[in-house]
Amino acid sequence: MNNSINLYSRLPKVDQLLNNENIQQLLKISPREIVTETIREVIDELRVLISSKNLTLEELDCKINRITEDIRDRVQESLKPRLRKVINASGVVIHTNLGRSLINREIMEHITEIASNYNNLEFDLESGMRGSRYSHLEDIIRKITGAEAAMVVNNNAAAVVLALSSLASNKEIIVSRGELVEIGGSFRIPEVMEQSGAILVDVGTTNKTHLSDYEKSINENTAALMKVHTSNYRILGFTESVSLEELVNLGQKFSLPVIEDLGSGVLVDLSRYGLQYEPTVQESIRAGVDIVTFSGDKLLGGPQAGIIIGRKKYIDMMKKHPLNRALRVDKFTIAALEATLRLYLSEETAIKKIPTLKMLTMTQEELASKAERLMSQIEQKNLDKLKIEIVDDYSQVGGGSMPLEQIPTKCIVIYSEDSSIASLEKNLRANSIPIITRIFKDKLYMDLRTIEEEEFNEIAEGLKFALEKC
Ligand SMILES: *Cc1c(COP(=O)(O)O)cnc(C)c1O
Repeated sequence: MNNSINLYSRLPKVDQLLNNENIQQLLKISPREIVTETIREVIDELRVLISSKNLTLEELDCKINRITEDIRDRVQESLKPRLRKVINASGVVIHTNLGRSLINREIMEHITEIASNYNNLEFDLESGMRGSRYSHLEDIIRKITGAEAAMVVNNNAAAVVLALSSLASNKEIIVSRGELVEIGGSFRIPEVMEQSGAILVDVGTTNKTHLSDYEKSINENTAALMKVHTSNYRILGFTESVSLEELVNLGQKFSLPVIEDLGSGVLVDLSRYGLQYEPTVQESIRAGVDIVTFSGDKLLGGPQAGIIIGRKKYIDMMKKHPLNRALRVDKFTIAALEATLRLYLSEETAIKKIPTLKMLTMTQEELASKAERLMSQIEQKNLDKLKIEIVDDYSQVGGGSMPLEQIPTKCIVIYSEDSSIASLEKNLRANSIPIITRIFKDKLYMDLRTIEEEEFNEIAEGLKFALEKC
């Protein structure tokens, strides 16, 4: 290793940098304090690196050569919002960590119109009196699902808590042991259910639950029967669960409501588009389930929301429940959800315009031709160190939906003999629009299913940036 004294002497001084032409440009558009602070921070970091002897002369020179760009990037970064657009090249369509479902741009224009103006959120334009915020959503949800009544809260977890608080506080809820799932982020259905004050009575075993298991547990303190859609896992092999129809019959026999947490809440039968069959919301209502809850931002493809549908007498209890005030949705959610639901009036429109559905139903031909176009944009950057290929792979639905579904897709795969794929992946995340990719066996994968055509140029530029970054 080099004599570190020599290395320190290579570092520029603060004043020297402040007089640099590029930094002068930067000062015209950014606060001086932030620029000075950033210069100090960058120099300090280099000092620490030198003292830790973790830096070769080559690396140091590369960092010093790029120092004004680095300072500019950091200053611009610190002035930008922390929550920002990223490019999802992971192929996970409903990626919970990347914001789940995307909202169509035409709908965003509508949201802008609603949010930046006064609106009739709780105002009845006909009578001139106070109205209900749920009125905008109720008719359209009833029309699409066939339910008698509907309401919407902050998310599906809230929907479950509100339904159970309203119907079963201090009373027993019977649920199959095989359905006590954890959704992710250590969110467990039984714990959420218990938050409502309901007493969980789990019946049956992990792999088998019979109708008689429910029936034996019914007593005078039972408030409801519950079914949870095990959306994010499957028990295979020697299994048995009770059908919705059987549960509904049992509920009717004992005058107990049946509550179903459907999780994803799909409104169109996706098996018609080559995907795995997933029970629809409409089927649950047709089977006679009294209360159905589902998410707005999973397979429905709308904003974060929890939709509760079913019999009017129960929905009315929930609307009046004090907890509802704490879980209520705002005008952004209502505007986005109403507009998304309107697209479902025609299934063809829904598939075409709702980004989640559009991505999930994208054909192999579309994916292949997108892959060709992205590949040629990347090739134009002459990134000689990188080898690039188009390969067949699988996308995932994500969001805890359809765990076994492997949707055939096309990926751009990048590998290299002389530069690290791990640092390429990391540097892509540091791009001005972060690019989220996946590494498998020392190769970088970019799945075309979740990448928009308009993002191709940014990806090509991003790869160039990521290769040059040190
Ligand atoms: C995802 C999911 C939830 C939670 O829904 P959020 O809208 O994320 O609150 C609850 N139950 C099931 C079965 C789910 O799949």
